[in-house]
Amino acid sequence: MNLDSAINSCPYCGESIEFFIEPLEEVQEYFEDCTVCCQPIQILVIPNIVTGTPDVRFLCANDTF
Ligand SMILES: [Zn+2]
Repeated sequence: MNLDSAINSCPYCGESIEFFIEPLEEVQEYFEDCTVCCQPIQILVIPNIVTGTPDVRFLCANDTF
């Protein structure tokens, strides 16, 4: 399996953090704890068929509550 990595800034502390993502052809949504501030980050991976590079967004998991 070919894992990709994505670097984005934490929505809580603003630090740049790197997560590994699976480049699938469907939208993925999961949670990872920030390695800096340990807050739960909701990760949204949206595949981009045109560029082949998925759009990765880090969201505050707490916003859904
Ligand atoms: Zn953080």
